[in-house]
Amino acid sequence: MAEKLTIATTSLAGCFGCHMSFLDIDERILALAEVARFDRSPLTDIKHCRDRVDLGLVEGGVCNAENVHTLREFRRHCRILVAVGACAINGGLPTLRNPIALEECLQEAYRDGIGVENPQIPDDVELPLLLDKVHPIHEVVRVDYSLPGCPPSADVIWAFLSDLAAGREPSLPRELIHYD
Ligand code: SF4
Repeated sequence: MAEKLTIATTSLAGCFGCHMSFLDIDERILALAEVARFDRSPLTDIKHCRDRVDLGLVEGGVCNAENVHTLREFRRHCRILVAVGACAINGGLPTLRNPIALEECLQEAYRDGIGVENPQIPDDVELPLLLDKVHPIHEVVRVDYSLPGCPPSADVIWAFLSDLAAGREPSLPRELIHYD
């Protein structure tokens, strides 16, 4: 039997919607398990890649120092890295905070916003520092492929994985590509 494709996934400044869309492949996940093995992923709860993997799927852009660290480590382990979804590709909806000063965002969220109780801006050393702006992942690491959509559909994720697992250059049907 041919070697299984090894896959890792991670979520940075994302909403887990892209992972949910992945799971929307439903029973096709059984066929995927025949040809692929999951390493680090929220789906396996493995926290760090154990080996070098063939394919890394990244959901979410980069909004804090921990995202930068995670993404660089992830890139080191992945032969092919894929930006999955609008957030990873161009920062997505979280970039709506980019025109606003970070301090102003923090004040609105934790001090002055409607319904805020016990107003105080968190500053525990355990918390990763927020970056001034939200960034797409290609501003931090090299990206090999992008799967657009918010989220990409299960069908396009399936088509992409099927091509790679079969050793084909991914060629996605135009009707499966969307950006919303
Ligand atoms: S692209 Fe959309 S679904 Fe995916 S993480 Fe971003 S907001 Fe969520």
